[in-house]
Order: sequence, then C-alpha cells, then structure tokens
Amino acid sequence: MKSREIHLNEYLKGAPKPENYSVVDADIPSPGDGEVTVKNLFISVDPYMRGRMSGIKTYIDPFPLGQVMEGGSVGEVVESNFDGLKPGDHVMSMFGWREAYCAPGKALMKIDTSILPPQAFLGVAGLTGMTAYVGLKRMIDLKEGETLWMSAGAGAVGSVGAQFAKAMGATVIATAGGADKCEYLKSIGVDHAIDYKNTDNLAAAIRDVAPKGVDAYFENVGGNHFTAALEVLKPKGRIAACGMIQNYNNATPSTITDNLTYIVGKSLKIQGFIVSDHLDIQPEFIKDLTAWMMAGKINPAETILEGIEKAPEAFTGLFEGRNTGKMLVKI
Ligand code: NDP
Repeated sequence: MKSREIHLNEYLKGAPKPENYSVVDADIPSPGDGEVTVKNLFISVDPYMRGRMSGIKTYIDPFPLGQVMEGGSVGEVVESNFDGLKPGDHVMSMFGWREAYCAPGKALMKIDTSILPPQAFLGVAGLTGMTAYVGLKRMIDLKEGETLWMSAGAGAVGSVGAQFAKAMGATVIATAGGADKCEYLKSIGVDHAIDYKNTDNLAAAIRDVAPKGVDAYFENVGGNHFTAALEVLKPKGRIAACGMIQNYNNATPSTITDNLTYIVGKSLKIQGFIVSDHLDIQPEFIKDLTAWMMAGKINPAETILEGIEKAPEAFTGLFEGRNTGKMLVKI
C-alpha cells in the first residue's frame, strides 16, 4: 500500500511556514504477526505540536527531523494479523500526519463508531473534550451558578468547554476573534460572547457583562487575556491554566504581566495541567458527556481541510484563528 506522510525539515523559529515541512511518499508493508495496516480517515492538528517543533524538550520530546511526525488520528483497519482487530474496524492512534500505516495491533485503540462518527474521538469524545472537562472539574471545580470566562471560546477545547460549563449550570462568558465566531458562540448557548479583536480593553469588556467579576477563568490564550483575567477575577477566583497559544510562536518568553500582585491580594488559585496526567477521569467524563449529549446540550463544531498535504496549513491555521471548533484534516 502507498502512503504520503508529513516530515519536519527543520526546527521552527517564529510562526510555522510551508517550507518547514515536506510531503514524502512511503510504501506501507503488509502486516506481520500481531500487526495491522490502517488507512487514516482523519488526523488531528493541535497547538501543543508547536512545542515539539521547537527542538527543545519540554514535558514531551521534540519531533525528530526528517521523519514522519506523531499525532492523533482515527482510521479504518485494512488488513489484520492481530486477534483483537478485523478489517473495517475503526481505531484511534498516534500515527497521524500520514495517510496509512502498519503497526502492532496492541498500539491501537479500537473505537465504537456506532453512535459517534470516528472524528469525534479526536474532538469532543477524545482528548479535546477531556481537556475541557479536567480544567472545569479538577482545576476550577466549577459550581452551579458561578460565572466562568472561557478564552479561545470558539476553538476546540473552548467550544466544548463552554458547553460543558453551561451544562454544569454556570453563566458563561466566551471570548473569540471575530464577529462570526461570536455569532457561533451565541448559537451554542454562551451567555455573553466578546470579540477580543474588537476591543482595546478586554477587562472592561468582561466587566460590562459581569460587573461583579468572574469566579473562574479557563486560560487557553495567555498574554493580554491572562492580564485581564487577573483583573476581573473575584476574590478566591480560580484559573485553569490549560494553554497560552499567544506565546507559542514567540522566540523569547513574553513579558510578564505587571499585575501579578492580584494573585496575592485576591487569594487567587492558578493551576496548570496536562490532560495526559488525568486519564483516570475518563469514566466520569464519558458518563457526564453521554448524559449531556443525550439531553441535546452539546453540539460540537469541526473545521475540516481535505488531503494530507493540507496538514501543515491546518496546523498553521490554529495560530491564525482559522478554525471554529476542532481543526481536522480529512484523508
Ligand atoms: P483551538 O481549536 O482553540 O485553536 C487555537 C485557537 O486559539 C484559534 O482558533 C484562535 O482563536 C486562538 N488563537 C490563536 N492565536 C491566538 C492569539 N495570538 N491570541 C489569541 N487567540 C489566539 O486549539 P485547542 O482547542 O486544541 O487548544 C486550545 C488551548 O488548549 C491551546 O492553548 C492548547 O495548547 C491548550 N491545550 C492544552 C492541553 C493540556 O493538556 N493542557 C490539551 C489540549 C490543548 P481566535 O480566532 O478566537 O483567536
């Protein structure tokens, strides 16, 4: 079987560019004992991958240069020499950034696509949804009647997180870039949608809709959003520090906000997290997600580009706000 795959040519400085990547032809061998061959259906592009393209070890190793990159994918089994999988089964794997692959069956997770489509396992029912859930449940411990500010609210984590927070009985303020994204946010039930690109005082815009301040802030952006959050959080407010995408393409660390003293004066709690440290929450997550979905409370959105050669463009699009909901590449 033939496949095309994306290789990283060089470590990135600044924003990703097309010349950072190559599309390379590959031959996929027939499966050996215990192996399967899989055709990918969708691959996921995620902001954390930017860190792996910097050549610096963080909580995860850099991508090796000149080799196919790792990333989440869902695919269909074509041939199998592994007892637990047969042709036609759907699997989730970390063998993304490629059209097809051969791998040990035990490295793959079989997914049940009878209720949700395969790509949902890269979004609302996968790590995206679980990230939002961990932030709201474990970091913030959001309570009914509280007010939450969700940043990057029209993105993958933000849009499902805003809907989870509504299902948990919170008042939700969501910020996003652009009027269309704000319309989308209203369509999924957020109480107040704010276009951060159309205000020169983010804290004042939040205060306009929440004069008493917010109980909790879900941090996806960093920079000026973080500064504004410190200002509008109520005393004993909580921040789930999930990501700070505004800084990912910076060659040097961003300037630290000068209002950090709010953390002391307001007794704020700021908790960072990596979703993979919280996989034990999955049964609770699936139980709540199922109930919310059956009650019609969750309506996930996707932005889909087609063709493996579009994967770098889809990835770059995350930093340009080109997605509403989960950014995916359809193979
Ligand atoms: P998104 O789907 O939210 O895509 C990124 C969005 O961020 C864009 O659509 C854009 O929305 C916004 N954005 C990009 N650049 C900027 C900028 N300079 N200033 C303000 N907003 C910007 O991605 P995900 O949902 O996958 O991830 C959201 C956040 O969660 C990221 O920070 C990511 O790193 C983090 N994350 C953390 C995890 C963890 O385990 N801690 C796991 C998964 C994700 P807009 O048009 O509104 O600007």
